[in-house]
Amino acid sequence: MASRKKILIIEDEPHIVLGLTDALEFEGFAVVSAGKGKDGVLLAKAEKPDAILLDLMLPDANGFQVCEELRRWDRFVPIVMLTARSQEIDKIRGLDAGADDYVTKPFSVNELIARIRAIFRRAARPAEAAPEVLTIGPVTVNVAAHTIARGKTTTALSFYEVELLRLLHERVGQPVSRDEILQKIWGVEGGPSNRTVDNFIVKLRKKIEKSPDKPEHILTVYGYGYKLAP
Ligand code: CA
Repeated sequence: MASRKKILIIEDEPHIVLGLTDALEFEGFAVVSAGKGKDGVLLAKAEKPDAILLDLMLPDANGFQVCEELRRWDRFVPIVMLTARSQEIDKIRGLDAGADDYVTKPFSVNELIARIRAIFRRAARPAEAAPEVLTIGPVTVNVAAHTIARGKTTTALSFYEVELLRLLHERVGQPVSRDEILQKIWGVEGGPSNRTVDNFIVKLRKKIEKSPDKPEHILTVYGYGYKLAP
């Protein structure tokens, strides 16, 4: 049996920590938690969690600073930010700070657990099923290293960026629906207001396309989803 995956919760609201801890432990995860950003970073280094849930508003720091610090230490660990509903712009900033995803409070614990399960399901796929290097137009993506290289420039990719490219690459030339992407990568059912996939596509186009406004590789299939053109 695989060892239990460990989740670190960095959150100062006790009822959220308690609710998440109970639910995650019930699902078979090991859970550690910290109520302050500084303690969270120390705990991350000591406990080496498999995924991190990070509150945006902490008493001693904001979640972006904590996220950047966590990323300096570990480029790969999936980080999901917990944000308040009104913080649309902050969400995007959170992703730029190195977070992989976000949920808005009040969130459904079941949905969050579905996302965490999806993270580990994707990460645990057999190595032979996934090529190590994806070539997309002018760039090469190193799946294991989470990097994208264009000429001599190499930049980092987040967990979901890599997984999204892998899924599109598995089906190169064929349209993949937004709902399928959400279901396979985020572990959630799609909804009309869910812009998660689109936000990630915008970020990926900036890293891949010559002109992100006129994409040649990550193509929009209107009313449906996206398609990768090699
Ligand atoms: Ca808080």
